[in-house]
Amino acid sequence: MKKYLIFSIAFFVQHVVSGQNYVPIDTADFQQRKTFLAEFKTKNDVLIKTLKAEYSGKTGAELGKYYNEFYKSFEKEVKDKNFTFKSPFNEILNGMLSDLRKNYPQISANLNVLIAKDNTPNAYCLADGTFIINMGLFNWMDNDDQIASILSHEIAHKLKKHAEKAMVENINEEKSDVEKVKEIKNQSVNKTDKALDIIKNRLYKKRGKKRESEIEADSLGYVIYRNSDFKKAEFLNAMKNIRDFDSISPRELKIETYKKLYDLPAQPFKEKWMKEEDFSLYNYDFYKEKLDEDSLSTHPETLVRIAALEKEFPELKTEDSPKEGSEAFKNLQKIAKMEILPNLFQSEDYGVGIYVAMQMIQDEFEEDYVKKWLGKFYGKIYDGRKNYNLNRYLDRIDPKNQSESYRQFLSFMWNLSADEIKNIAGFYE
Ligand SMILES: [Zn+2]
Repeated sequence: MKKYLIFSIAFFVQHVVSGQNYVPIDTADFQQRKTFLAEFKTKNDVLIKTLKAEYSGKTGAELGKYYNEFYKSFEKEVKDKNFTFKSPFNEILNGMLSDLRKNYPQISANLNVLIAKDNTPNAYCLADGTFIINMGLFNWMDNDDQIASILSHEIAHKLKKHAEKAMVENINEEKSDVEKVKEIKNQSVNKTDKALDIIKNRLYKKRGKKRESEIEADSLGYVIYRNSDFKKAEFLNAMKNIRDFDSISPRELKIETYKKLYDLPAQPFKEKWMKEEDFSLYNYDFYKEKLDEDSLSTHPETLVRIAALEKEFPELKTEDSPKEGSEAFKNLQKIAKMEILPNLFQSEDYGVGIYVAMQMIQDEFEEDYVKKWLGKFYGKIYDGRKNYNLNRYLDRIDPKNQSESYRQFLSFMWNLSADEIKNIAGFYE
């Protein structure tokens, strides 16, 4: 563990993160991408061969077909630059991986880590042994140990062959997903409904089964984690952080923030921009019930998992507040925060990008840097408006599923005229 820490610290002495000169992570990594894809293809072919040998007949054939389709959609994602191959995150994660392996030799040596330009705190394990770690994890975790706990959980999934087993089970039950992946591949419109999502979600189709696998991965993951030098309590602290995640922050965006940003010399702020549609006709009680029901689906799942862990490992019952992360970790955390806007730009979530940028400005986070991105997002919103496809980049108002603050924001955005958008873009770009 010490070795990679020293290495990372040395790396960061030269690359101290500061807003003035921050350069977003370079995705012009053509050569690395090419090499990765070539290796991935080889591994995928080996996997298909192995599976066909293991599962005879129709199941083997279906698995082969499925993993071929998977390669194609995954290749597209890689080419779309949704992952980064030259990032400071790799060092720390590969270091953790080899550290965990040293103390738990059952972990295979040919695993590798791939960093996704995705702000949600999530990680996945692909069947070939590639771990996809979202950059967003660094925004939601408090320290190195919590990141290692997530990695351990994913390793456990791999050791237990959960992805493979779920796949075989699904194939035996229904055959429609290959078709679904094909369908999505053919519609380039909604980038967020990507084929990879199907793969990710396949595991989660059966709720009961999913919970069972998760509890298994937590249990073995904790054993792997405990064998290394990490602080035990952080394993649960990491799960608690994930439990508290919301995809769009419900925090209030203050009217002053709008006025601060959009009262421009050549275009004074207009009160009418803040006007909202009247939603009094909606039956909020009905929707509130529905919302509670939805939130129940993820949160108690985590609570059940936490309870199962505490039962199996009584040592986890002693609560302990998160410790401070290492300097290297804190630097990565800062990078992950600086990358939030570039990541949203990459996924073409321009509307959400503006909303998040405004929250950052409200928090007085790296104002100059954030304003530059604000201009870029407005530029894209303007293009969308001009080409009559703004729907693609900016959510419609949906009173039943959005926070009051986000709804106010969307009203504001849809109230702006094309010229007004253009002026804002021009001012900040
Ligand atoms: Zn899991």
